[in-house]
Amino acid sequence: MAVPKSRTSKARKKQRRAKNYRLETPALSVCPKCGEMKLPHRVCLKCGTYKDVEVITISE
Ligand SMILES: [Zn+2]
Repeated sequence: MAVPKSRTSKARKKQRRAKNYRLETPALSVCPKCGEMKLPHRVCLKCGTYKDVEVITISE
């Protein structure tokens, strides 16, 4: 079994874990059709359009 040669320092450990503690929320853009917040460059999940073309049909 592989065993660490030396103990990981507190700073190294925190540096490694810091990647997971994200402060920023993901970028959002406004859908031009329904005005809902959506992820940029993605199909709007509310109305199913991308660049004014209906790509998927939302059943509701
Ligand atoms: Zn939309």
